[in-house]
Amino acid sequence: MNKDLQDQGFLVTSTADIINWARTGSLHWMTFGLACCAVEMMHTSMPRYDLERFGTAPRASPRQSDLIIVAGTLTNKMAPAFRKIYDQMPEPRYVISMGSCANGGGYYHFGYSVVRGCDRIVPVDVYVPGCPPTAEALLYGILQLQRKIRRTGTIVR
Ligand code: SF4
Repeated sequence: MNKDLQDQGFLVTSTADIINWARTGSLHWMTFGLACCAVEMMHTSMPRYDLERFGTAPRASPRQSDLIIVAGTLTNKMAPAFRKIYDQMPEPRYVISMGSCANGGGYYHFGYSVVRGCDRIVPVDVYVPGCPPTAEALLYGILQLQRKIRRTGTIVR
């Protein structure tokens, strides 16, 4: 059936595939720079790496974002604000944890003031390792997230 239609010049797909395709090409990411990793996050968006060419754009409001990049050291004091920002994002929403501090506390793993991984506060989709991760590593993480979104159905039947 699909082959017959394709032979006649029609493109056949499902609604879910179209929505996921559109979603991966229009990720709006909320910046959440907390420490030194944020410099590499900003770098990723600058002309040399040009993150926007993959269909993403930074937003300053959680209401307009479907991705949050946690870049840096999450302290216990900041954790409630982080959770509140996450809760304000519309679903489906995604989280990238960037760097050793966001992934598991990093240098401050034994400190009293640092959350040992932002996944203790919100669910994380992609972890980007490094201290700090390079801009290329964050780019790779975002491409991995796009692959994950394409593979995952987001329509509840
Ligand atoms: Fe800074 Fe390293 Fe922690 Fe990133 S992982 S915030 S570079 S100490």
